[in-house]
Amino acid sequence: MSDNIADLKEQLVVTGRSILDRGLVAGTWGNISVRIAESGNIAITPSGCDYHALSAQDIVIVNNIGIKEEGELIPSSEMPLHLAIYAVRSDIQAIIHTHSIFASACAVAHCAIPPMIEDLVQIVGGGVEVAEYALPGTDELAKNTVIALADRQAVLMANHGLVGCAKTLREALMVVELVEKAAQIFMYANMLGGPKLLNKEDVAIMRRFFVEQYQLRQGGRT
Ligand SMILES: [Zn+2]
Repeated sequence: MSDNIADLKEQLVVTGRSILDRGLVAGTWGNISVRIAESGNIAITPSGCDYHALSAQDIVIVNNIGIKEEGELIPSSEMPLHLAIYAVRSDIQAIIHTHSIFASACAVAHCAIPPMIEDLVQIVGGGVEVAEYALPGTDELAKNTVIALADRQAVLMANHGLVGCAKTLREALMVVELVEKAAQIFMYANMLGGPKLLNKEDVAIMRRFFVEQYQLRQGGRT
């Protein structure tokens, strides 16, 4: 196993503990994956994983059509969703799916989070839309989610939860945390007469600034 794969598996374990400890999921819910640059394979958390008991050898590696390449356990039941996003978004290398409370409240109300606060639009590239409902783990859910995600970095799944995507696991964790915060702000703003939205041009400027700064931090343009 290459050092890079061992490192990615360790990052998945650490991120799993983070989403549990930060209250973004309860119990064994949610799932996390990362794309392995060398092979295009996906390293993903196993089905029903206990994040505190999870170790690097529990991580499952599948190819880009979901055939298992490595690991004893069954991959997450939301694997089709992860694969569908990677298939159409070459810019995305890490995905985190959570069931955090305020984002889920928006998801059950089928209420998109509008582009209303600067950190959200910088990291997501706009507001957060709601994908049409489909049963968990199905190809239909994967398809609906890809459509609603479009070219942004986060999407709500109706009556279910949140998906955050990024170039790294660290950034994907920031996405799901910032969307959860934005969902909470959105609800409070609605109690004060509703949020005033950012305009499209300013959203585009802020997103571009964030991406360029991120690329600089990564050591160059990609
Ligand atoms: Zn879920």
